[in-house]
Amino acid sequence: MTKQEINPYVTLICTHCDFYKEDDTQLECAAFKVLKAMLQEGRITPVEIKDALR
Ligand code: SF4
Repeated sequence: MTKQEINPYVTLICTHCDFYKEDDTQLECAAFKVLKAMLQEGRITPVEIKDALR
């Protein structure tokens, strides 16, 4: 099972990152943690993340 399959936040955030490695299932950088927390709290939406990463 890949990182992308087990964590939807990785799919949404990390797959757009230059440092993304599919086999690295543990690393969560500060930016990832902040975005994940903001998504969980409803401060931003997945659509806003996708729009920002276009
Ligand atoms: S955890 Fe951070 S550095 Fe690693 S792939 Fe995700 S956004 Fe990029």
